[in-house]
Amino acid sequence: MSDLHHLGVAGLADAMAAGQTSSVEATRHFLARARAHADLGAFLAIDEDAALAQAAAADARRAAGEQGALLGVPLAHKDIFVTRGLPTTAGSKMLDGYRSPFDATVVARLAQAGAVTLGKLNCDEFAMGGSNENSAFGVARNPWDPTRVPGGSSGGSAVAVAAGLAAAVTGTDTGGSIRQPASFCGITGIKPTYGRCSRYGMVAFASSLDQAGPMARSAADCAVLLSAMAGPDIDRDSTSLDLPAEDYTRPLGQPRAGATAAQPLKGLRIGLPKEFFGDGCAPDVLAAVRAALAEYEKLGATLVDVSLPRTELSIPVYYIIAPAEASSNLSRFDGVKFGHRAAKYDDLVDMYQKTRAQGFGPEVQRRIMIGTYVLSHGYYDAYYIKAQQIRRLIAQDFQQAFAQCDVIAGPVAPSVAWTLGEKGDDPVANYLADIYTLSTSLAGLPGMSVPAGFGVGGLPVGLQLVGNYLKEAELLQAAHAFQQATDWHTRIPQGF
Ligand code: GLN
Repeated sequence: MSDLHHLGVAGLADAMAAGQTSSVEATRHFLARARAHADLGAFLAIDEDAALAQAAAADARRAAGEQGALLGVPLAHKDIFVTRGLPTTAGSKMLDGYRSPFDATVVARLAQAGAVTLGKLNCDEFAMGGSNENSAFGVARNPWDPTRVPGGSSGGSAVAVAAGLAAAVTGTDTGGSIRQPASFCGITGIKPTYGRCSRYGMVAFASSLDQAGPMARSAADCAVLLSAMAGPDIDRDSTSLDLPAEDYTRPLGQPRAGATAAQPLKGLRIGLPKEFFGDGCAPDVLAAVRAALAEYEKLGATLVDVSLPRTELSIPVYYIIAPAEASSNLSRFDGVKFGHRAAKYDDLVDMYQKTRAQGFGPEVQRRIMIGTYVLSHGYYDAYYIKAQQIRRLIAQDFQQAFAQCDVIAGPVAPSVAWTLGEKGDDPVANYLADIYTLSTSLAGLPGMSVPAGFGVGGLPVGLQLVGNYLKEAELLQAAHAFQQATDWHTRIPQGF
């Protein structure tokens, strides 16, 4: 089969079950494509032999009668998840050449389900960024227009799916890093409720915000991956939710209670926060989002106006809390325990300073300085504590909105993908682009990006759907119903 890379996870598993292809064939196919499209900068590491060995093992399991939605499906992981067999850099020179002695829980669970690991995917350094331009190992390029950013920080992840270099991938989202690159690259991604997926083995950025999730062509494929990734891991991650894993694929095809086949979303109330539809959002993005919402009405949903009055504050609040936690998490990279160490130094303090000055890129250094400042004596109450108080109010605003609706919808980002280098020297311009994703993260709510059309330059636009706590199944169902009625998620960039 020659179009294996367009089948998606479910299509590929079906083709393998029907004997039309094998995991080894599919793995070879993706590896060849990854090599052919190396100029996209999606992968940071690939181990062809290991991937083919895993594929052969999966084929043997299938031949022995085993079935499985992920058995033999070739995936790749954001290089923020530690992997025993492959290097882990987190996009940083600080971890260049680092090899972990263990697998992240999410990686281990997908492997247990029989998925094949093709390699590790490019990302912004320590997941700090929204364009993948902060990677120490070069940019990743948007397959819809290689002069544009793919979004970030899970940029390589989004590129790999959009360009057909992996059937699906993992990403992480601290303030939008699954949803925004998914939107920029025209794929589907979900950030679950905080605590749904174990953070064990995820290189930590901001621990109270970091969450793993799948990125794939469709909501149905995301459901397959999330079912394997999620679930309690409390012995290893104390913030992991102690709730049984769910089968997120089950509710997909079913109409909501009381709905009909023609109107599968009858009864679903979609809240539109007025703050998400204002002047700050580009007209082409708004037009695609509004057209998607009209489609939702046809599917039986009703649109209601809601308000998230502290949306604007989510940027300053996030850019205090995330750097504060990052400055603490990144203190472990001292040249002693692991990672890079300066070659020449005078004494211990000089070794620390040189190691960290060499190992961390400019954005990471900026955040360490901001974080250290807002946590310092005398400023802690004015900045960090105040930000935590507003964070609580942001979460309360969502609960007030959810009193009127089941799901909240709006744009993912205020524009389509920008040109490489366009915001390069201006950190604040980058931070402002996170306006629609940060509040969800601060509240710990699940959110997703669903392909919803195209804007200027033929670039993809994502619709953001946000659910209440633990409502991943409802979100995926709402996205799936939309994808049954539209074909945006099936569009492939030219030449791929
Ligand atoms: N763009 C945001 C940041 O730079 C979000 C990153 C993320 O979610 N990892 O912090």
